[in-house]
Amino acid sequence: MTERLYYTDAYLRAFTARVTEIMPPGGGAAGGVVLDRTAFYPTSGGQPHDLGTLDERPVVDVVDAGASIVHVLDGPDPSGGLAAGASVAGEVEWTRRFDHMQQHTAQHLLSALFLEVAGAQTVSVHLGESCTLDLDAASLEPDLVRRVEDAAHAIVFETRPVSVRFVEASEAEALGLRRPAGRTGTLRVVEIAGCDRSACGGTHVRNTGELGPVLIRRWERSRGRTRAEFLAGWRAVRDYRWKHALVGEWSARLTVRDRELGDTLERMVQETRARERALQDARKRLLRYEAAERVAAIPAGPEGRVARLVFPSRDGDEVRALLREMTALTPAVVMAGVTETGRVWSGRAPGAGPDLAAVLARACRAAGGRAGGSAEFAQGAVPPGDAVARALAAAEEEVRRA
Ligand SMILES: [Zn+2]
Repeated sequence: MTERLYYTDAYLRAFTARVTEIMPPGGGAAGGVVLDRTAFYPTSGGQPHDLGTLDERPVVDVVDAGASIVHVLDGPDPSGGLAAGASVAGEVEWTRRFDHMQQHTAQHLLSALFLEVAGAQTVSVHLGESCTLDLDAASLEPDLVRRVEDAAHAIVFETRPVSVRFVEASEAEALGLRRPAGRTGTLRVVEIAGCDRSACGGTHVRNTGELGPVLIRRWERSRGRTRAEFLAGWRAVRDYRWKHALVGEWSARLTVRDRELGDTLERMVQETRARERALQDARKRLLRYEAAERVAAIPAGPEGRVARLVFPSRDGDEVRALLREMTALTPAVVMAGVTETGRVWSGRAPGAGPDLAAVLARACRAAGGRAGGSAEFAQGAVPPGDAVARALAAAEEEVRRA
C-alpha cells in the first residue's frame, strides 16, 4: 500500500521513499515501481498524472492501482533497474503539477458557482490540454456565464482558504457536499471556504488567490447538456497574451483601435462577399461572350459538326459552363479537355446526335482513362498530357463517322 503524500500536502515536490515492489509489464499495463510513499499524483478523477523523476530517472506515467501507485519509468525497463528495498529520491515536475492544481481547483469553484447561479450540476469533468465541465443544462446564456465568471473572481480576490479534511461518509451528509459521494468509508473532503465542499482525491491550491484568472473560454451544447471549456492561472494568462498580441497586430495592420477591430473585420467580410458576387456575375457574362465568339468561329457545313477545344490549364467548372453556353447556341457537338489535369468533356444540344457518353467512354478507354455521363453531356479523365488531345481526336473521329 502506498501512502499518498499529496493527500495532506499538495505542495510537496521532493521526497524520499522505499521501493516496495517491482511490477512486471503485462495484462496491458506497462509495469513499474511501487513505493511505500509518494508525492506523485496518478491519473484519476479527471486529473492527469504527474511527471518528474525517481533517482533522476524520468517518470513517464503514474498509475493508480487501487491500494498502490505504480510509477512507470522511461526506457525499455519501466522499473528503471530499481530493486525492491532500494531507497529513492523522488521529484515532482512542479510547473505541470501546479498547473493541474490551478485547473482542478478552478473546476471546483466553477462547478459550485454554476450550481449556485444557474442551478446547473456538473456531471463530468475533463482536465487535460483543454479543461471542460459537462453541465446538466440544455443551454447557457452569455450573461449567466459572465455572472459565474464574476462570482469566481470575487472569490479569487478574497483569497479564501482551500482546505482538506478526512471524514467518515456517514458524517459527510451533515457537512453538505455539492454532490453525494456515493461511497462509504473515509472521505477526503476539499473545501473552498464559504463556497464548496466536495469529496475529491485530487490536488488543489491552498487559497483561491493562487488561481489567478478563472475564465470560461467557450461553451457548446452536447447531447442535451452544455460543455464549458475553462482555463485558470498561468493558462489564462498565456491565453490572454496570444489573443492580445493577435488583436494588437491586426489593429496595427488595419490601422484601427483594438475595440474597432470587430466592426472593421465585419465590414471587410461584407465587402469581400459583395466583390465575390460581382466577380461571379462578371465571369458569367464573360463566359457568354467567349461562348458566342467560339461558336461564331465554327465553320458552316459538315466540317462544323464537331468543335474541339484543348486548354493547357483551366478550371474544370468553367470549362463545363463554357460547353453548356456553347451547346445552347450551336447544334454542333463540342468537346473540350484540359492537358494539365487530364479531364475531358463533351456536350451537345438536345435532339439528334450520337450518345456522347458511349463515344467519350470508348475514346478515353483507348487513351488509358474512363468516362461517363449522359447522351448529351459526358465527362471523363485520361492521364494528363498528350492523352487529352488523343482522346478528343478519337472521339471526334467517331462523331464524324456516325
Ligand atoms: Zn478536486
